[in-house]
Amino acid sequence: MTETLDIKITKTTHSRLQETDFNNLPFGKIFSDHMFVADYADGEWKNFQIVPYGDISLSPAISSLHYGQSFFEGIKAYKHDDGQVTVFRPEKNAARFNKSAERLCMPTLPEDIFLQSIAAVVDIDRDWVPAKANHALYIRPFMFATDPFLGVAPSGTYKFMVLLCPVGPYFSKTLRVKIETYYTRSAEGGMGFAKSSGNYGGSMLPAKKATEEGFDQLIWTDAKNHEYVEEMGAANVMFVLDGKLITPSTRDTILDGVTRDTVLTLAREWGMPVEERRVSVAEIIEGAKTGKLQDAFGAGTAATIAAVGSISHNGEEYFLADPKTREFSQKVLVELDNIKYGRVTDTHNWNYPVL
Ligand SMILES: *Cc1c(COP(=O)(O)O)cnc(C)c1O
Repeated sequence: MTETLDIKITKTTHSRLQETDFNNLPFGKIFSDHMFVADYADGEWKNFQIVPYGDISLSPAISSLHYGQSFFEGIKAYKHDDGQVTVFRPEKNAARFNKSAERLCMPTLPEDIFLQSIAAVVDIDRDWVPAKANHALYIRPFMFATDPFLGVAPSGTYKFMVLLCPVGPYFSKTLRVKIETYYTRSAEGGMGFAKSSGNYGGSMLPAKKATEEGFDQLIWTDAKNHEYVEEMGAANVMFVLDGKLITPSTRDTILDGVTRDTVLTLAREWGMPVEERRVSVAEIIEGAKTGKLQDAFGAGTAATIAAVGSISHNGEEYFLADPKTREFSQKVLVELDNIKYGRVTDTHNWNYPVL
């Protein structure tokens, strides 16, 4: 730890907490009272502030709008039964934040500043962390270029901000997914491993088309031949095939998810055979046909563990077992909740306390 960050705090004069319906929290639409803001200029981070959540004023020429020098993170804070608030594995996000920054020619942010800024704003808005099963405070750190300059070149100035949203479950149903065989999310040499804003803009048309066909999500495949599975929507994808937990190995086309790492760690501790490798569409379809595909789910902070109900490929739909009967993902869901809500000893030190 470096020294304590000097943060200028301006509190809201009108909290929206009382008028917020915590029984109805659509994802990402309700914001807490405060947000964190910092500026990068002249080669350094400065002006660390917590201010009331609200609009900000920017030049219309900023290069994040025109050329996509922009990326983000997604983390969750949980309220334990005793009222304590912890953030789940934010050190991993701090490290990934800087991988994204480097790929986009943007300045890195010392991990310590990242962690302190999150802890400070969550602390101020700790009453916004829902005390309810399957609920959390979603933390959205992000950075974007602010030079008012229309040349295609890295900006010299940036903003780092953190927003907070109380959230309930992301998906309320078992997902009908389609293996995408035309569009791609990312290609080798691209920026699929970065949480770069442009990756998500490019995924919206294929996702919309899939929705129009009646699907809930896409399974992305490799850009070259659409032969290997890569991710599911904005989550990593995992399968239990013939008793083994199988997931695509990370590479520059795949986002290295914290949830993915968490699930793999637990599976290994439970003595489950784990394979991180290229996963072919053919073996997944074959497994679905023969019944050897026992489980399939998306893994991500927003979605947590999202059960796949059926997988479609080239017009054929293959149905999987009822999620409630799936041993592995059910066990993971229970254990993850126990850890995040502080009901078991946190042997991995995954819970970062907000003091
Ligand atoms: C955020 C994200 C994930 C999941 O990462 P977590 O750290 O588990 O939240 C996976 N894939 C993509 C494309 C993502 O944007």
